[in-house]
Amino acid sequence: MNFEEVIALRKAFNSVKERQVLNPPHDFSEKKLKLISTRKSCVGNNELLAAAIERLKKNGIKVHLVKEKQEAIDIILGELGSEKLVVKSKSNVTKEIGLTKALEEKGLTVVETDIGDRILQVMDAKPSHPTGPVTHLSAKEIAKGLSKYYNIPIKDDPEEIVKIVKADVVSSLDKAKTGITGANAITAEEGSIVMAHNEGNIYEVMRKEKHIVVTSIDKIYPDIESAMNMLKILSYNATGSIIPSFVEVVSGVSKTADVEKKFIKGVHSPSEIVLILLDNKRSDMAKTEFKELLYCIGCGNCLLHCPMYNTIGNEFGSESNLGGRGIAYQSLYSDERNDKLEFCLTCGRCKENCPVELDIPAIIKKIRSDGISSEIYYFLKAHVIWGYYQILLKSNAYKVKKN
Ligand code: SF4
Repeated sequence: MNFEEVIALRKAFNSVKERQVLNPPHDFSEKKLKLISTRKSCVGNNELLAAAIERLKKNGIKVHLVKEKQEAIDIILGELGSEKLVVKSKSNVTKEIGLTKALEEKGLTVVETDIGDRILQVMDAKPSHPTGPVTHLSAKEIAKGLSKYYNIPIKDDPEEIVKIVKADVVSSLDKAKTGITGANAITAEEGSIVMAHNEGNIYEVMRKEKHIVVTSIDKIYPDIESAMNMLKILSYNATGSIIPSFVEVVSGVSKTADVEKKFIKGVHSPSEIVLILLDNKRSDMAKTEFKELLYCIGCGNCLLHCPMYNTIGNEFGSESNLGGRGIAYQSLYSDERNDKLEFCLTCGRCKENCPVELDIPAIIKKIRSDGISSEIYYFLKAHVIWGYYQILLKSNAYKVKKN
């Protein structure tokens, strides 16, 4: 990430922080305590997982409990059959299993429908925030990348950029028969799939003939109420709004029993829902001292407050695992110790701002086990202070220029 990108990232992060201050949710501490207790009781809870699967199946949803990444990819390929085009919405689990690349290798065209994700896809760029993936890119940079891809001149005007990307997405949405989404929660009591979004794209993707949901076993919640509590906290921390624009609760396929009480499926869409519940070492991790890493709800608030992330941006992370939590998690599930673990200053700003009070510095120290050497620590600290100083200078120069 270059200086301009870091400045754009910090500007966007600051605007979310300002919205959070102006718009605090009612009883936030109580909601947080409820969320923490829910996460503690749900993560690694095999009875709850089994109950959720049973209920989902009763609701007519086809469920695959999947151990490994490749198994998930093979099942999805089987479900897609001879399809050549698939539309999808944001899903960290699809990134975790490398789904897009795997489908493309088999000759399928995969189109992201979230505007930011589609921009990243056509520009072949890395995200910088779980819910605001192009936060670090200016309209100028985006316009340059899109002009090259679409082979037409595009102005660095956010409205024009969105209009062009939207037209591209809509044309694929019109043609595709299968849509892939992630899920924010799966509820055991109702057997429901809960998905939140602001753009309205999930609504379009899930209304294809077949809806494939790709998520992980740590997303199980006891009921809709606890899932909604999580969504309010997620939304507030991610964007500063107390609720996302849309919350989809899917508890079965489109059906009717209007004529002589005979059940007919697929009156509208979807007529088939397939849920992939990925384990990928989560059940093993839930038995270890690192279980709390799975409490994460993916709000990205830790990134907003991390001095290292605010200095080097998404270099402090990998594609689907950003910041200290992401790198710690990736090091554990991939069995590869990520060298970027050393970048963490263990300052604790993430823990102070995490709704589930995840002690990321303590976890990182444990994974590093040695603790960072004092030379590296002071070198990195000096680097961060220098980075902040440079960004401050640039920000002030930007303000002066603007005034
Ligand atoms: S670690 Fe905490 S703050 Fe960071 S994304 Fe997860 S829940 Fe949000």
